[in-house]
Amino acid sequence: MIQDIYPNHFANEYTPTPPLPDSNIIICRNKEILIKNNNNTINFPKASDFDKKFLSEYIYLFSINKTGYYILRNYSDSILKEYNFVYIEKLRHSNPKHLVFAAVTAVQLYNWYKNRIYCGSCGEKLTHSKSERMLFCPNCKIAEYPKISPAVIVGIHYKNKLLLSKYAGREYKKFALIAGFAEIGETIEETVSREVMEEVGLKVKNITYYKSQPWSFTDTLLFGFFAELDGAEQITLDKNELSMAQWFEREEIPVEPDDVSLTNEMITAFKNGNI
Ligand SMILES: [Zn+2]
Repeated sequence: MIQDIYPNHFANEYTPTPPLPDSNIIICRNKEILIKNNNNTINFPKASDFDKKFLSEYIYLFSINKTGYYILRNYSDSILKEYNFVYIEKLRHSNPKHLVFAAVTAVQLYNWYKNRIYCGSCGEKLTHSKSERMLFCPNCKIAEYPKISPAVIVGIHYKNKLLLSKYAGREYKKFALIAGFAEIGETIEETVSREVMEEVGLKVKNITYYKSQPWSFTDTLLFGFFAELDGAEQITLDKNELSMAQWFEREEIPVEPDDVSLTNEMITAFKNGNI
């Protein structure tokens, strides 16, 4: 999956030391990131590419293999001659994998910082905590932490069959599993039951946790579950969310050659008889 970068080591402890010459610099334009992408291989701008006067105002993001990643508050447009803005979605299958993970994670943090300049309550400028990744309003004392929205992916099974679906009105046209965001006031298991009922009108039992995945494309932390059908197999489709949903016999499940997403790993695990 996208976060599986072993033996590379992702360290997200908040240790805001100044950038070194070989630190990677993250510059974004919404969901685009500034990189070199030669032969499908990613390179980030280095701190040594920037004038020293820009390096003093930085935001530390994280490290991979002890190389730090930083946002600069200002930079000269001359950097745009050497590097290009690329939509983060287009990097899903680039190399090396740990830099793809770095890029996607950095874009999520960049946009969180960009959208949290001022306090949402009183309008005062937020200050950066020195000890943790937290923004703080000196006026009304509100603390802001990075936005991470929990969501579920559910593999619903019945006898030898798995339920696959396709989203309505999205660019992503491949088969997927039932998915949805947690609502305030419910447990993540309750999210599973509610989303399944809302999207396909089915009851489920024996809800079993599988794995999780940080999905920074949508500020999400995904929780994968398998669940058994409880009762009738007749599907009632929510056509606002899904264009189709269908039971597939294990042997007939279509599998995509994709090692990025938890959805695909779960579909493959069921097909291979591991569930
Ligand atoms: Zn405030």
